[in-house]
Amino acid sequence: MSSGLPEQRIHCPFCGETITIVVDTSAGSQSYIEDCQVCCQPMQVFIEAADGELLSVHVDR
Ligand SMILES: [Zn+2]
Repeated sequence: MSSGLPEQRIHCPFCGETITIVVDTSAGSQSYIEDCQVCCQPMQVFIEAADGELLSVHVDR
């Protein structure tokens, strides 16, 4: 069933760089602050998940 935590590529809303985040879909829908690995700005990450499946990832500043 589960093949571990899926990695997601997202674009930083500040510098536009592609960064990789690991999404814990077992926790369901969630949002949290993640620091950009490139420019270190805090971005808000919105995760939509249901039944352990990732539905969508959205980032905002
Ligand atoms: Zn950035």
